[in-house]
Amino acid sequence: MTAAGVQVHETTAGRVLLGPGARRCVPSEVDRLRAERAFVVSTRSAAHHVDECLADLGSRAVGRFDGAVVHTPVHVTEEALALVLASRADVIVAFGGGSATGLSKAISARTGLPQVVVPTTYAGSEVTPVLGETRDGAKTTRRDPALLPDTVVYDPELTLSMPRGLTLTSALNALAHAVEATWAVDSSAYTDALATEAVSSITQALPLVLDSPTDLAARGRLHSGAWLAGCCLAQTRMGLHHQLAHALGGSFDLPHAELHALLLPHVTAYNLPAAPAARERLTRAVGDDPVQVLADLAAQHDGARRLRDLDVPRDALRAVAERVAAAPYPNPAPVDVDSVTGLLERAW
Ligand code: NAD
Repeated sequence: MTAAGVQVHETTAGRVLLGPGARRCVPSEVDRLRAERAFVVSTRSAAHHVDECLADLGSRAVGRFDGAVVHTPVHVTEEALALVLASRADVIVAFGGGSATGLSKAISARTGLPQVVVPTTYAGSEVTPVLGETRDGAKTTRRDPALLPDTVVYDPELTLSMPRGLTLTSALNALAHAVEATWAVDSSAYTDALATEAVSSITQALPLVLDSPTDLAARGRLHSGAWLAGCCLAQTRMGLHHQLAHALGGSFDLPHAELHALLLPHVTAYNLPAAPAARERLTRAVGDDPVQVLADLAAQHDGARRLRDLDVPRDALRAVAERVAAAPYPNPAPVDVDSVTGLLERAW
C-alpha cells in the first residue's frame, strides 16, 4: 500500500544490445546467461537469420521451430514446447516480430527458461512483462515480470526486409504505445521522457525509411524509438486506443499493426482536447499539429486505411462502443457509447 499521490516506478530489468550486426552477439549472450543448449523459435520470415544464428551457435544449437503466428495460440505453443522439452534446451532464442516474442514468452512461462529475443519489427513486446494467448479464439492476458526476456538484441539490419506496409504500420503501432503514454493516468517524468523521445525518433525516422528503405541509420533510429515506445507500453496503463484495438482485433480477427495504424489519428484527435499536457508534449516532439502528423503518416499506407477496408461491418460499431464503455480503460476524454461510436464511424 502506498500513500495517495505517491508515484511508484519500477524499471524493467534486462539487457539491451542495439546496432547493426548486433545479432552476431547472440552466442556470447547465450554464454553470458551460462546456457549451453539454445532452442531458436521464429516466424518463417526470419528463417535465414535463424540459419545464420544456428551456425554461429555451433554445438550450442539444439533445435528450431519456425511456426510462430500472431496472437500466440496455445496449440502452437504446445507443439513448440514438446520440441523444446525433447531437446533439453536451457535457453530460448527468438527471431521475429511480436508473434515470435509471444511464443518465446509462452514457452518461458511454462519452463522458466531464460530468453534472448531478437525483434524484427517495431511491436515492442520484447520489453513488456505481458503475454496474450489465445485458445479457441478466446484471449487471456497475463502480466508477470518473470515473462520479460533477459536479453534483447536490436539489429536494424534485420528490419531491412520489412515490406513498406509492415514498416509503416508497425512503426505506427509503436507510436501508439508512446502517444498513449503521454496521457496515461500513471505517466511520470520517466515515461514522459521515454514517450517524447520515442515520438520524435519515430516521426523523424519513419519518412526517411519510407523514402529510402535501405537507410540503415534511419532504420536504427526507428528501432531504438520502437524500443522506447515498448518501454512506454510496459510502464503505463494504456487508454482508449489500446482498448479499441483489443476490442476490434478480438471481435473481427484483424491484423494487429494495421489496426493500430488506422485508429491512432482518430483516437488522438478525440483525446487531445481533454489532455492539454499531452498535446503540448506531442506538439513539441513532432514540431507541428500531432493529429495532422499522425494522419499524414497513416495516409501513406497502401493497404487498409479504414475499418471498412478490413471488412468490419458498420452496424457492429455501436456494439463495440458499448463493450468498451461498459468497462473503460482510464482515458482523458469521456468513454461513452455515443462518443465512441462517433469515433469508430470516423475511422470506418
Ligand atoms: P508479427 O510478428 O505477427 O509479424 C507480422 C508479419 O510480418 C509476419 O508474417 C512476419 O513473418 C513478418 N515479418 C516480421 N518481421 C519481418 C521482417 N523483418 N521482414 C519481413 N517480414 C517480417 O507482427 P507484430 O506486429 O510484430 O506482432 C504482433 C503480435 O505481437 C500480436 O500477437 C500482438 O498481440 C503481439 N504484441 C504483444 C505485445 C505485448 O506486450 N505482449 C506488444 C505488441 C504486440
